[in-house]
Amino acid sequence: MALLPITLIGDKILRRKAALVKEVDFKTVELIKDMFETMRNANGIGLAANQVGADKSIFIIDISVIEGHEEIKPIVFINPKITYRSENKVFIEEGCLSIPDIHAEVERSDAIKIDFMDTDLKAQTLEAKELLARVIQHEYDHLQGVLFTDLISDEMKKKLKRELTKIKKRDIAFNYPVTEHADYQMQL
Ligand code: ZN
Repeated sequence: MALLPITLIGDKILRRKAALVKEVDFKTVELIKDMFETMRNANGIGLAANQVGADKSIFIIDISVIEGHEEIKPIVFINPKITYRSENKVFIEEGCLSIPDIHAEVERSDAIKIDFMDTDLKAQTLEAKELLARVIQHEYDHLQGVLFTDLISDEMKKKLKRELTKIKKRDIAFNYPVTEHADYQMQL
């Protein structure tokens, strides 16, 4: 297992729609293991493959570290597709390992339904609400090239502009390994 550098806002791969996974080979299994290690090292509860520079439609979630969610096992989502989003939407503060130390309220559906494949490439469906639905929507967006800072108010965007520029320039202290430049991509 290995810790992987995390891509930062401004990195090109974070803006690309992720490529579909056709087979879960040895390298993909290794990637997923490394993603878990990288996410936990950074105290994250979700991580998308392009956040470690891998162009694959995969994200992982582990919210069992959050009080009240201990019973929810870690989940690997391969080629996910959200098929339902509730009309009922809520504002919750979010953060992102690719946008360190920035938090802002984002409006999202309170409940969702998602189709995906597990690591055996077996089709799965999951209904999620509240925190789990929140994290899934955030990670799902990553695979479409969308970051949570795209979804905040214009006023908030203006407020955060300078901080975001600092992150892009790697002009802050990071608590975990990050990529060295905006063109970083993992060779798989
Ligand atoms: Zn994120």
